[in-house]
Amino acid sequence: MNVPFFDIGRLNRTIAPQIHAAATRALESGWYILGKECSTFEQAMTTQLSGTAVIGCNSGTDALVLSLLAAGAGHGDEVITVANTAIPTVTAICATGATPVFVDIDPATWLLDCSQVAAALTPRTKAVIAVHLYGNIADVNALARELQKAGRADVAIIEDVAQAQGAALCGKSAGTIGRFGAYSFYPSKNIGALGDGGAVHCNTDTDAATVKELRNYGQKDRYHAETLHGINSRLDEIQAAILTEKLPFLEIWNKRKTELMDVYRRELSDLPFTFQNATSGCTPAWHLCVIAVADCQQRNQLQEHLTQAGVQTLIHYPIPCHRQAAFATARHSGLPVTESMAERILSLPLSPVLTDDEQQQVISAVRAFYKN
Ligand SMILES: *Cc1c(COP(=O)(O)O)cnc(C)c1O
Repeated sequence: MNVPFFDIGRLNRTIAPQIHAAATRALESGWYILGKECSTFEQAMTTQLSGTAVIGCNSGTDALVLSLLAAGAGHGDEVITVANTAIPTVTAICATGATPVFVDIDPATWLLDCSQVAAALTPRTKAVIAVHLYGNIADVNALARELQKAGRADVAIIEDVAQAQGAALCGKSAGTIGRFGAYSFYPSKNIGALGDGGAVHCNTDTDAATVKELRNYGQKDRYHAETLHGINSRLDEIQAAILTEKLPFLEIWNKRKTELMDVYRRELSDLPFTFQNATSGCTPAWHLCVIAVADCQQRNQLQEHLTQAGVQTLIHYPIPCHRQAAFATARHSGLPVTESMAERILSLPLSPVLTDDEQQQVISAVRAFYKN
């Protein structure tokens, strides 16, 4: 039996009637962009987050771009983030014309090391993107304190929540703590569309109004453009309708993944590798089950062994962003933890539709590798 990393079709088929009904609703409405379905979804997600305002857009990447533009980032500015993230975090920074500045990650939480941010600030710093990778939350409260201490409360905190929708830090939903939260509905994310989709959470109505204009050509209302750097980035009615049907399942699906994570941790605890530590005060929404083994050679051998055993694994991510040709102009002053992690990490199958039997097959295969 082969164990897929994440069978997205299997997950969507569990709610096929709801998806069909949503698509039919959108079809029959005769209105396909910025209509009732989008605002219904935005309202439902705002309520679920206990947030202020959610604005739908075309993708997680665009959610970051819109947040950065609303924070005023552009040519000549700098945006601080980490290099162990999905490429789009950095693509979004570069799309605004700003320069990425990388700081290292914490060796236990594998996320932004907030204590390194102060040293990376310059008068041109416009924002910090805290990436909540794998479902754990970067300590955004500590980050806010660091910026305050440095006299730079003007620097916008943007949360990249693409992998952590449904997580919470000290009782607040991931994405509602910073000035902006950027969500992705890429099909494999915690809540996935049947195509592309994203959303921005704004903590103030002023920012929400700006993001709404930016996503719609910079128009304040029809035929009146007041905001420069507007783009076309909207959440289609058909995707919004599907996402509204999916929202009530977020907690159920996240809970199933947490159960599976607990089993992995318990049944593999004696083996010589580590899991990501949750940030203090954080209830994670595990999106990926990542382990960090001894070294690169062992990682590659383990991956090969699992492939032979029919277990699909992936590496998130094999090349950190500061090593990507596209981001050669980014600034950093050494990222030893990031570099070491990239060589040693491996992602095991994890999804809401992974069965107990499949997980046991993964666990047996991992154990067999270390017995030899
Ligand atoms: C998926 C992802 C994005 C981009 O989302 P898209 O919807 O694919 O544009 C950004 N950041 C992180 C960390 C992601 O995992």
